[in-house]
Amino acid sequence: SRYLELRNVTMSFNRFTALEDVSFDAEAGEFLSILGPSGCGKTTLLRVAAGLEKPDRGTVVIAGRDVSGLPVSKRNVGIVFQSYALFPNLTAEQNIAYGLTPRFCDRDRVRRRVTELLDMVGLVGSGHKYPAQLSGGQQQRVALARAIAGAPALLLLDEPLSALDAKVRSRLRAEIRQLQKHLGITTLMVTHDQEEALAMADRILVMDQGRLLQTGTPDEVYDLPASPFVASFIGSMNFIRDLVKEAPGIFRKGDLSLAADDSGLVPQGTRAILAVRPEDIVLNGSGGSRENALPALVRGMEYRGASYRVTLSLGVEGGCSTLEADVPTRKIRRLGIHENMPVNIGIPVD
Ligand code: ADP
Ligand code: MG
Repeated sequence: SRYLELRNVTMSFNRFTALEDVSFDAEAGEFLSILGPSGCGKTTLLRVAAGLEKPDRGTVVIAGRDVSGLPVSKRNVGIVFQSYALFPNLTAEQNIAYGLTPRFCDRDRVRRRVTELLDMVGLVGSGHKYPAQLSGGQQQRVALARAIAGAPALLLLDEPLSALDAKVRSRLRAEIRQLQKHLGITTLMVTHDQEEALAMADRILVMDQGRLLQTGTPDEVYDLPASPFVASFIGSMNFIRDLVKEAPGIFRKGDLSLAADDSGLVPQGTRAILAVRPEDIVLNGSGGSRENALPALVRGMEYRGASYRVTLSLGVEGGCSTLEADVPTRKIRRLGIHENMPVNIGIPVD
């Protein structure tokens, strides 16, 4: 069942088109992440869903009801913004209670519900504190509690974690996801952080320049990116461009010949781009014959703890091509890999 539907949404500011014919839907209880670079229209899309922005064209349906003509106050949505947006002169409890006001008029009921919400977001005992007395992570918990206080039909999160430091961010990631599953609330979260989208979302909507480029589960967008943009925006990707398909499964560029399983998608004689993830490149040291074994030179090494990001140059007729490989630290040590060392690499056919 489609719980949230946006159909053909177009929105411009003066003559600038911020959203162009965007359509997508979410199932009840689904967690969708809108992922894209800064300025691509993510916040605008969220504001359209919320009713804070009226699109030039298109419709918004929430829980089977066309809400296109309704303002934010009539849509029953909970919103959390990047900056905490709490009332500084109200305590955590009072901020949360603010999310309840219209429907909860009984003082005892408000108190009970606020206590329950403080518990849900892990803030028992901090209800009397003012925002300035809370850490950034705690302030976002209050904002989250306020957003879900009135049991909204839809939860909208606009980069809720981006102002927090890494440790707090990854903890809140897991907590938000757990709470969202527990409540079964359909959620749309905007982020420019691909790791956050991969870690949290049931499905990711990849955007660029006001358009939706690809929709899919995290592993679909990671393993089967629909375009070079998506491929390089999510994770790192190496490209070898201007290969020509010479025979089934054989691609050539000058004296570089590569075998690749293209499942017959690329017609013979046409140009192709090979895209390979850094973690998929195999470093063979001096020996070993693997798929697409190629000689390369280690140009640079960046230590990352568990692995090294190794920059390799590949001799290609008419210039050299640079590849990045992620190699486990243990392997680097075992093979004694160092800068300016000639090595053999392998690129798996699949
Ligand atoms: P994102 O959230 O992906 O960073 P936004 O949705 O905030 O992007 O903005 C998309 C584009 O629309 C940007 O180029 C921004 O400058 C423009 N924009 C957003 N809001 C307004 C506005 N109220 N008036 C004019 N331009 C706007
Ligand atoms: Mg934004």
